[in-house]
Amino acid sequence: MTEPVRYQSTRGTAPELDFGDVLLAGLATDGGLYVPTHWPTLATDVDPDASYIDTANEVIAPFVGDTFTADELAEMIAAAYGSFHHDEVVPLVDLGDGRIVLELFWGPTLAFKDVALQLVGHMFEKLLTARQQRLTIVGATSGDTGSAAIEACRDREALDIFVLFPKGRVSEVQRRQMTTVASPNVHAVEIEGTFDDCQDLVKAMFGHPEFRDDVNLGAVNSINWARVMAQVVYYVYAARKVGKGAPVSFSVPTGNFGNVFAAETARRMGTPIDQLIVGSNRNDILTQFFSTGSMAIGSVEPSHSPSMDIQVSSNLERLLFELYGRDGASLTEAMLRFRGEGVLGLGVDQMAHLSETWSGTSVSDDETLDAIGRYQEQMDLLVDPHTAVGLVAAERLRRNPETPIVSLATAHPAKFPDAVQRATGVIPALPDHLADLHSRVENYQTLPNDLAVVEAFVQEHRSK
Ligand SMILES: *Cc1c(COP(=O)(O)O)cnc(C)c1O
Repeated sequence: MTEPVRYQSTRGTAPELDFGDVLLAGLATDGGLYVPTHWPTLATDVDPDASYIDTANEVIAPFVGDTFTADELAEMIAAAYGSFHHDEVVPLVDLGDGRIVLELFWGPTLAFKDVALQLVGHMFEKLLTARQQRLTIVGATSGDTGSAAIEACRDREALDIFVLFPKGRVSEVQRRQMTTVASPNVHAVEIEGTFDDCQDLVKAMFGHPEFRDDVNLGAVNSINWARVMAQVVYYVYAARKVGKGAPVSFSVPTGNFGNVFAAETARRMGTPIDQLIVGSNRNDILTQFFSTGSMAIGSVEPSHSPSMDIQVSSNLERLLFELYGRDGASLTEAMLRFRGEGVLGLGVDQMAHLSETWSGTSVSDDETLDAIGRYQEQMDLLVDPHTAVGLVAAERLRRNPETPIVSLATAHPAKFPDAVQRATGVIPALPDHLADLHSRVENYQTLPNDLAVVEAFVQEHRSK
């Protein structure tokens, strides 16, 4: 057991906070992201066959400090992962030749975001109840985050959740996962606009102090440290089971960089990790960055893996903070230049250090469909397009055939049936708990892209 961590901002000027305040704050007041003041170290004399739940208790304890007791933490972890539809929570599938798939999609909404959000939902409820506060969570989604956040927050007394999604731009499965949850504190709102419009509305609500304070606005987006923390567990768990003390590599289909930064955290805590491979779709800004040490912002292009259609990955700032020697002032300068001029470049030493562990590659839509077809034909494994990107990245960039490589499966194939059917001819079946999704009653409101109208709706519909 190491000493509990506190949290500092990557930009260096916001106050240091404890875990509870970081959980509720999300972004730091200086515009930075919260990171631990030091990396706790994992014990080495552990049973490599420990269960997922036991590993979660061990890995998370030092991060929460005294915000929760060990008993409270254990209770929340058991409840969160009890909602998963697989006994092992995150099963490992062996493909031979040291290739392993880590399935992270057995939670209620079929994407890996459930692993973090199921636990974060319990943590919000416990902390808000102890502090006698209520929170109104407002989020924008292009698909997966919205349903995972809704499932995490539904039926919780201390919370209301409003999710804004763009009209006609989310898949049928994704929309129904958000609109068929019959819970009084859940509000799915279709906006007559794009995902960017939804995001701008949320930003505007946070930028409107009277509204923000009146409803006590909160967020569950992936810059929240608690989400990264919960994801560290499966890297530690998989590395121990697969490597048994020897190094393991990971290939991670990446968008906002929250998932793969959890791998970096596991590494800094002492988990033996050889390579971290970042898989991207045609939106290849991270591939540029890991190949050349510099990146330039382009425009976002739609792809078969929509949850990775992104240009600026917010959580990359946490890795940059380490590369800049934890110096908030020089990172702030670099980030402001990046936002202003659209370009960021590393120095030679920083790049050499980065390349020891990190690499990235961009996978086209055609290559993604081809991989879905190949894995179905050769391995009898049906994978979703995001997972396929990670599998191709692992094939391309694995540098040592002796070191096992774990590819993360981030969504269930039934979540993206169109691409899977196109690639294989097979229509993937929804798991039992969602089998009747298409006959459930939908309940949602359609609103114009108008801040005043959306704010009035939130004020009127939140419970008081
Ligand atoms: C969100 C998401 C990703 C990207 O994860 P990041 O943490 O944003 O990098 C990849 N695959 C799926 C299915 C997702 O929902």
